[in-house]
Formats: sequence, C-alpha cells, structure tokens
Amino acid sequence: MRMLLMGPPGAGKGTQAKVLAERLNIPAVSTGDIFRANVKDETPLGLEAKRYMDAGDYVPDEVTNAMVRDRLSEADAGDGFLLDGYPRTLAQVGTLDDILAEHGHKLDAVVALIADTDVLVARMLKRAHVEGRSDDSEEVVRHRQDVYTAETKPLLRVYAQRGLLVEVDGVGEIDEVSERVLAALKTVTE
Ligand code: ADP
Repeated sequence: MRMLLMGPPGAGKGTQAKVLAERLNIPAVSTGDIFRANVKDETPLGLEAKRYMDAGDYVPDEVTNAMVRDRLSEADAGDGFLLDGYPRTLAQVGTLDDILAEHGHKLDAVVALIADTDVLVARMLKRAHVEGRSDDSEEVVRHRQDVYTAETKPLLRVYAQRGLLVEVDGVGEIDEVSERVLAALKTVTE
C-alpha cells in the first residue's frame, strides 16, 4: 500500500498516520515530524526549515522534495508507505510522481480527513497548551489554515481526477476515525 494522508492542519493526520501505519504494516513518513526532529537536533536542514515553520509558511519545495526523495529511497519504504503532510504543493505532486515512476511504483489511495475550520482552530489551540509547538499560536494557526486553503486544497481535485481520493470525516474518537479510513480504503483499492 502506497498512500497519502491529506487534510488541513489540525485534522488529525499525525495521530491517524501512526495508527494506520501500524494497522497496515507500512512506515508512516511525516514531513512535519522529520522537520521537527531536525529543528530539535539543530541540523542545517532544521535551521533552514525553522523560520518557515514558525511563521506557519511552507518550507521551500526544493528543500522538502530533496528530503522526501531521500526518505522514500530507504529500504523500509520499498514495499509501501503512508505519507503524512506531503505533497502540499503542485510542484511536490510532480516530484512525488517522478520518485514513484523512478521506482516503478504508483499510488494506491489518497485519504483526505475533513473537518470544519472552527473545529480545527480550536483543536490546534488546545494542542498548543499540551505540546507547546511554536507554530500553534492563534495568529499562526489561522495563517496555516489560509496557506492550506490556497496551496494544498487544490491538490484534492488533482487526486480526485485520478480516481484516488477518498474523503473521510475527521471528527470523532481516534478509533472511530481510523475505522472510517480503513473502510474507505477498501472502496478505492478494491
Ligand atoms: P500541520 O499539518 O498541523 O500544519 P505538520 O506537522 O504536518 O503540521 O507541519 C508543520 C510545518 O512543517 C508546516 O507548517 C510547514 O512549515 C512544514 N511542512 C511540513 N510538510 C511540508 C511540506 N510538504 N511542504 C512544505 N512545508 C512542510
């Protein structure tokens, strides 16, 4: 299974990615997590990414694409993966297509978690207290929603046209949402 998990900031992608990867026995590759690990370790990549992340902007495509290309070339991603938070721009869609083609692979499914913006903002502000993420202040949270709407939401149409998209209601208990996703995956992959 090679799949994408999409949806606006706060929709629960990270949480679901971990559960689903385990259930499907594939690695979850989260660009946000990889960036945060690099920021924490103060690597050159982390220092570059941090200023964009703190402002709620996307890290430049060249940087993100190179990172994903490296990660998907690792052995554990050879038989499948769940990408969380990538692609987010049309250029990234093109790069992912290239990476897959180079390996003779193709995508099986794109799952979009859907939730109302007010629910999302409320969740993220709550998370800010719990996790202390530096990009979870109210102003930055709203900006991230706007960036998603402008840059990433249009990608859903691209994948819908390819017949890969399934939309899943992201509001509910964690287990409930996971079951919805697993059921929805059956409809696109069968
Ligand atoms: P969220 O989905 O809540 O915004 P993520 O953990 O997925 O959280 O991403 C956090 C930040 O990492 C983003 O706001 C962005 O700055 C950066 N980032 C993650 N994935 C990408 C990507 N595919 N392209 C560019 N920047 C990204």
